[in-house]
Amino acid sequence: MSKFWSPLVNDLVPYVPGEQPKMANLVKLNTNENPFGPSPKVVEAIQAELNDSLRLYPDPEGESLRQTIAAYHKVKPEQVFLGNGSDEVLAHIFFGLFQHGEPILFPDITYSFYPVYCGLYNIESKRVPLTESFEINPDDFKQPNGGVIFPNPNAPTGMYLGLQHVEEILAANPDRVVVVDEAYIDFGGESAITLVDKYPNLLVSQTLSKARSLAGLRVGFAVGHPDLIEALNRVKNSFNSYPLDRLALAGAKAAYEDEAWFRKCCDGVISERERVTAALEDLGFEVLPSKANFIFARHKEQSGGVLAKGLREQGIIVRHFNKPRISEFLRITIGTVEQNDALIGGLRSL
Ligand SMILES: *Cc1c(COP(=O)(O)O)cnc(C)c1O
Repeated sequence: MSKFWSPLVNDLVPYVPGEQPKMANLVKLNTNENPFGPSPKVVEAIQAELNDSLRLYPDPEGESLRQTIAAYHKVKPEQVFLGNGSDEVLAHIFFGLFQHGEPILFPDITYSFYPVYCGLYNIESKRVPLTESFEINPDDFKQPNGGVIFPNPNAPTGMYLGLQHVEEILAANPDRVVVVDEAYIDFGGESAITLVDKYPNLLVSQTLSKARSLAGLRVGFAVGHPDLIEALNRVKNSFNSYPLDRLALAGAKAAYEDEAWFRKCCDGVISERERVTAALEDLGFEVLPSKANFIFARHKEQSGGVLAKGLREQGIIVRHFNKPRISEFLRITIGTVEQNDALIGGLRSL
């Protein structure tokens, strides 16, 4: 605390990202990064952009990238909003679309950035408990609210909600924005972007950090009705007119132009996810059914905290949340074959 701080800063509870340890040779399975690198075409596109033009500001609207993403998802460019990572897109959504004087709804077990934005913008929230089996029950989102947000697949459970259930939530809330955070959609789910023309209250956010291996580039976007996009543009242009730099715009565009690489990486993660799941089940773990690039698992006898510590002593980092309902679980990112073998071996030895 300091006398120089704005009073609100005293009460902020910031998001704590998974740690990025500096040690070499770690098996780092704690932040859901993609074990496969970005497409070589992304690296080429960024290198081609490393020239004198860096003295010029980038296109504030990212027109070319928006066109690419729109064509990929069969929507119009005016239905696409770009941000510096989907975290920034989400921040603008909370500010621009969730301040209606009623609590917004999100699951009790979910992405822990949502309550942080509520604190930053002074938005009330109501946490909707997942079922006993950690599923989202659409009926629980049929109550007065100032907006709804949930990841699909959910994080950190990895569990996917079928599109017919997403539609139930959309249909029950025609006067509120429903945000589907699809950070992990490419690992086996079906995107709700196909529904944006049917539901003017639907906003879908995605990121290039996970399935497209570009966490370091910071690119995310939202797709929805042009009226929702207009609200986000107003917020953005009152905050930072140039959120995506020239390198990010070029690299992100190239990522969408290498579908073969993208498919190969997703398929590799999915097949490894199934292998790791089976191996952990053999070791006595309950593994929630995942459609993400991570699994959420608890052991029938060993405590989650003890296992996370034991793995760490072997140089294997996974995520453990010391929170109600999930303190016995480990969230484990799917890595390379070698990393996953190290994880399985490490758990076996414990
Ligand atoms: C990783 C993640 C994001 C943020 O992604 P960035 O684009 O890297 O900011 C958003 N939502 C969920 C649920 C995530 O797991």
